[in-house]
Amino acid sequence: MTTPAPHQLVTCPFNKSHQIEHYRMHVHLQKCSKQHKNLKYSTCPLDATHIVLDAQLDHHVANCPKSVMFHSKIYIMDNDHRPIVPVQRPQPVEDCEEDWESSNVSSYVPDPAKKGPHIINKIKGATPSERRKARMQGIQTYKPPQ
Ligand SMILES: [Zn+2]
Ligand SMILES: [Zn+2]
Repeated sequence: MTTPAPHQLVTCPFNKSHQIEHYRMHVHLQKCSKQHKNLKYSTCPLDATHIVLDAQLDHHVANCPKSVMFHSKIYIMDNDHRPIVPVQRPQPVEDCEEDWESSNVSSYVPDPAKKGPHIINKIKGATPSERRKARMQGIQTYKPPQ
């Protein structure tokens, strides 16, 4: 039996105030069940730590979280292999480029005393739009491998 989250707290089926770590649940259940011998419990076939009233076993199995988890995993995996959005060709996104540029400039405060002159020239030598244009031309001449 695999337990995805061994340290996840699980509510004891005998007493809701018992919060037991999942990997210790079977030990706790052995102790706790001795105090509840008057009630008939069965073990869930999908997860041995699910102890449910005999009368509710059928209902539990139909709604077992383990079963729901199992089915939702299948569903997600299935979707992963199905392309929802058609594959887009790599194209420069102008808005993103501009946002990156402006946030970069605003956070960058050139200090002539500390930075080399070539860095200041790079910042001051062209307006953001000019630098963006140069960058766009560079991207446009670049042909991604098909
Ligand atoms: Zn308990
Ligand atoms: Zn169950």
